[in-house]
Formats: sequence, C-alpha cells, structure tokens
Amino acid sequence: MTVSNCSPHPRATELADEFKSWRHHLHTHPETAFEEKLTSAFLAEKLASFGLEVSTGMAKTGVIATLKGNKGNGKRIGLRADMDALDIHELTNLPYASKHPGKMHACGHDGHMTMLLGAAKILSEAPDFAGTVEFIFQPAEENEGGGREMVNEGLFESHPVDAIFGMHNWPGRDVGTMAMKAGPMMASYDIFEINIDGKGCHAAMPHLGRDPITATGQVLLALQTIAARNVNPLESAVISPTQIFGGDTWNVIPDTATIRGTVRTFSPAVQDLVEERLKAVAKSTAEAFGCSARVMYQRRYPATINSEAETAIARAAAIRVVGTDKVDPNPESSMASEDFAFMLNEKPGSYVLLGNGPTDGNCLLHNAAYDFNDEAIPYGVTYWITLVDEYLGAR
Ligand SMILES: [Zn+2]
Ligand SMILES: [Zn+2]
Repeated sequence: MTVSNCSPHPRATELADEFKSWRHHLHTHPETAFEEKLTSAFLAEKLASFGLEVSTGMAKTGVIATLKGNKGNGKRIGLRADMDALDIHELTNLPYASKHPGKMHACGHDGHMTMLLGAAKILSEAPDFAGTVEFIFQPAEENEGGGREMVNEGLFESHPVDAIFGMHNWPGRDVGTMAMKAGPMMASYDIFEINIDGKGCHAAMPHLGRDPITATGQVLLALQTIAARNVNPLESAVISPTQIFGGDTWNVIPDTATIRGTVRTFSPAVQDLVEERLKAVAKSTAEAFGCSARVMYQRRYPATINSEAETAIARAAAIRVVGTDKVDPNPESSMASEDFAFMLNEKPGSYVLLGNGPTDGNCLLHNAAYDFNDEAIPYGVTYWITLVDEYLGAR
C-alpha cells in the first residue's frame, strides 16, 4: 500500500460516495448511550464483510475488530471511534435527517464511525504492516462513560494495545486541517449537587425560620471565588452552577433549596482543590446564614491528556496527510470533556482534532442544526491509514 503525501489516500477518494452513504445511514438512525443496537449491528456486519475478526457486546453495544498485518508480528495499535447520538430533536430538514424522534447525531459521531470503518476497509485490502490494529467502536461517549465501561470490562486484556488513538471533528477549523498537542486536550468533568437546608416558614415572618433561598444566593456567589481566589491564576478551572431549585409558591419560605452544576479542570491537583473548597465554601456559607449544606460531588470523566511520543507520531501522520502548514501544533485546550480519557489513563496515546469546516448556520457541536461535513471523511480515513503506517509500517 502506498500512502500519498498531502492529499487523501486514492482509495479514500474512490470510495468517498460509499463512505458518504454509510455516514448518512448512521445519521438517519441515531441511538443514544448503551442502546446503539442498530449501529452496532451495522458496524459488525461491515467489519466482518472486510474479513476482520469481530467481537461484539463489550459495554453492551461496543464493537471491536482485529486486523493482523501480513508482515508478521509487531506492535499493537488501538484506533477508537465513538458511536452514540444525543437526546436532541433534529432540525436540519436533510434528506437523511434522523428518523428517531428526539435523537440526533449532533456531535458528528456518525462521521467518526464512518472514517474508522473506511480505514478498516482500506487497510484490510492491503495490510502491509507488521503487528496488529484494533478498531474500537465505543458506545455512550456523551455523559455515560462507555469508554470507562469498556476499560472496566477488560478491553485492553482481551485486545491488548501498546498505544491508543482517538479523533474528534471540530467545526470552526477548516476541512483538510488537523490539530493536536501533548498534554491536556480536554478537561475533566465533575458534577455537584448542593442541598441547603433551612427551616420553612411564612414569607412575611422570616425571623421565625431559617431562609435557604438567601443562603443559596450567597453560596452561588461564593462558589465563584474558588476559581478567582483559590486556584493558581496560571492554572484553569471552571465552576458552573447550571440549575437552581427551591420553593413552590409566593408566600412560603421553603425548607430546602438546591444548586447543581459542573466543574472542569485539567490537573488532578486543581480538581482536588476545587472539590475540597466547594464543599467547605458551601457548608460554611450556608452555616453563616443559619442553614446547613449537604454536598454531593462526583467525578465523571478525567482530563484527556495526550502523551508526548504518541502525539509526535500522530503529528507526523497528520503532516503526511494535510501538510505541515495545515497542522496546528498547539491548539487551545478545551474545557469540554471526553471519555476517551479513560483509555488514555490506561495506555499512552493521542486525541486529535479534525477540521470540519465553518460554523455557519448553527453548525456547532450539540446544535439541532448540526451535520458532520462529508468533505472531511477522506482526510479522516487517510489519517487513520497513515497513522497505522507511521506506527506499524516497515520504514
Ligand atoms: Zn458531544
Ligand atoms: Zn463528540
């Protein structure tokens, strides 16, 4: 197999229409966390038709396909795509729009699956490398941690790899561009719920109760001092309260009020600090107003941290595909998060961004008008093929 320089692989161009039809099929049939049954069956059927060894059922709907090179034993590389859609009602009017009401591929995972499937097809036609490629299709990236489930169910015991690689489409970056860096690419994702307990009473006689509403207002403001006053200004943290509940009517001070929200950080030390301060600030502020606070703090996803050596390999592959001037070697880290982090916690690897074109017309991730850009498919397919060549090729 020859890998062309600075343009899509010729097979990826030849097969572009077929890949597009796979992507549109997946887009029409979106499925959410751990319910990706049609998706899983579609992937497994295609992968088996390429002659690959396919295993299904890990983390309920995960699919893994194994390809051994024809040049003997060697290293083992894992390539991962996510499979799930979002609970969004699609508003695109596309001919291939979602047929599942309230579900939509609004994060481009339809494109991610298509690109990895396309790479599996082309690589299986000419596996001219030494070693093994594991194609890993993972359910439930959004919220539910399908990546963690696969790791917990023994992904890397049943399908051992020396390194693991992931990719996400990125609207706002041009098609035919890529971006990656060593270190944190995405933040950790934690959630919290603070219940502030007071004593309910008549709203006209507040002195007879202990008002959790006023205390909640103070806690809400005090939480913002954690990032501003406790975290080192050269580090990053976001504390975003996103829900407030309390009270049922005009003239009653309730017993309890609730704040919920999310925390994003890049380093475990900052994550520890924010958790500790959030609990202390909530409790002591509530107490200052005669109330008490119960705090639930849950760590959902760790930060997504790319390793040095594997990111250098990913960058070398990307440069071969799109050219040096189209590879951003220092993209801004995102405060969004990604459950590929669980795989990167186990194995060295790199998570890269693939340009998906302009953000015109609400073309934003998680927007009801989003559609993955088919023009990006040949670049993503070629990146995977070239990465395998960089990692396992006889060079
Ligand atoms: Zn998403
Ligand atoms: Zn996504």
